[in-house]
Amino acid sequence: MILNFIDGQYREGGGRIFNDINPVDGSLITHVSEASREGVDDAVRAARAALAGPWGSLKLAQRCDLLYAVAAEIDRRAEDFLAAEVADTGKPRSLASHLDIPRGAANFRVFADAVRNVPTEAFTSHAPDGKPALNYALRRPKGVVAVICPWNLPLLLMTWKVGPALACGNTVVVKPSEETPATAALMGEVMNAVGVPKGVYNVVHGFGPGSAGEFLTTHPDIDAITFTGETRTGAAIMRASAAGIKPVSMELGGKNPAVVFADSDLDATIAGLTRSVFENTGQVCLGTERVYVQRPIFETVVAKLADAASRLKPGRPDDANANFGPLISAEHQQKVLGYYALAREEGATVVCGGGVPQMPRDLKQGAWIEPTVWTGLSHQSRTAREEIFGPCCAVIPFDTEAEALRMANDTRYGLAASVYTRDIDRAHRFASALKVGVVWVNTWFLRDLRTAFGGSGSSGIGREGGVHSLEFYTELSNVCIKFNGATE
Ligand code: NAD
Repeated sequence: MILNFIDGQYREGGGRIFNDINPVDGSLITHVSEASREGVDDAVRAARAALAGPWGSLKLAQRCDLLYAVAAEIDRRAEDFLAAEVADTGKPRSLASHLDIPRGAANFRVFADAVRNVPTEAFTSHAPDGKPALNYALRRPKGVVAVICPWNLPLLLMTWKVGPALACGNTVVVKPSEETPATAALMGEVMNAVGVPKGVYNVVHGFGPGSAGEFLTTHPDIDAITFTGETRTGAAIMRASAAGIKPVSMELGGKNPAVVFADSDLDATIAGLTRSVFENTGQVCLGTERVYVQRPIFETVVAKLADAASRLKPGRPDDANANFGPLISAEHQQKVLGYYALAREEGATVVCGGGVPQMPRDLKQGAWIEPTVWTGLSHQSRTAREEIFGPCCAVIPFDTEAEALRMANDTRYGLAASVYTRDIDRAHRFASALKVGVVWVNTWFLRDLRTAFGGSGSSGIGREGGVHSLEFYTELSNVCIKFNGATE
């Protein structure tokens, strides 16, 4: 059974027991112990005590050394993390081993480096009596941070928040997704192994409303909430946190466009689109679900993308011939299939996919789905406007740059966009006019963790990454010291 990790110990959470299901074949991986309100209380209390105690008294360099040790221990136990992540998500081992697990370790190293390199601002001024005053900024941790995570990149997105939060001296209570509790739980062993003081890192399991998610985000002794997940959930958490005036960081949903100009490098474009539409079975917040293609190459791009989709082979994560996993759950499969049906109703031509693939008998209970490409959909259709979070895209033609820009920006979301062109002037012009937090030109999901990451509109509030994470996870105080000195 997967247990909660509270005050350095694994223990039952006092709530129900729920199932952790393998999406590959619908089998039971194990049971999970849900944290009750009292269980969450205990976790928050432990985090508060650690803040006042051993963690708060560590020097910055000692804290960073511990975070480097956490990263090294994740690397050392990469096989364990890989097994846990792959069982929970069903994603190909090859994907998790080059993306999720190394990024889990990198998130601790990068922010241990970043926090050592934050300059402090200072200004001199003069009091009315002419005496000088020096103003300087002090950073201190926010306190106890609630970290609420989704299921699509469980370790990667959890450590993306825990790394900088701990680097800044906070303590955390993590609520992983109910679909993917394993790697957050395993991280407790890592923390204990390298000597992170008890109470610094806590994990409570459960669901959202009426469960650990709600108990945590409404807890009066939480100082800040960092959330990644659906826009609707983000709104619920903001409402819940409003009474306590809690700072929130919101990384939410998207309906990301890719814009392909006729002058683009076609092979690189298809490679980029194939990843951005289908990687992780389309369950990446940055993934592309709208592809706008300039008319002269429209048919070619559609044919090549459909061809690339047909080469994706569903199968077990450790099947060397497979490179395409299932969706996260039967429930999510039903949601995505609902959109596949809606696309047909809205007049789509199904160029490829559109249903559930034929799977061998032992995988039939898995949440499998076909990679799908549609044409013939209006830019105004629901299929082309609502986040599906599946391996599918609507391909829509355009004639002019202005038309492409209008359609790309015509959305309530503003997370990411990719642009494919060889025209460097157009790349700059177009990138500066896109209303999104992240723009890629001739590539996709190429991340430098020092850069700002986040979305505008319904895709989120705030930016994380590099110094932006440090802004969120610290409180800034200005100290003004008047002193006797030269009056010039
Ligand atoms: P979700 O919103 O359903 O759940 C996310 C987490 O919130 C889970 O741990 C869940 O238990 C918890 N939760 C749900 N209701 C809650 C409530 N009322 N109070 C407190 N906690 C609650 O999201 P998901 O389905 O796990 O993930 C997919 C979504 O995440 C997609 O919309 C995707 O775009 C988004 N996402 C965004 C980013 C980003 O960086 N912007 C990254 C990854 C995923």
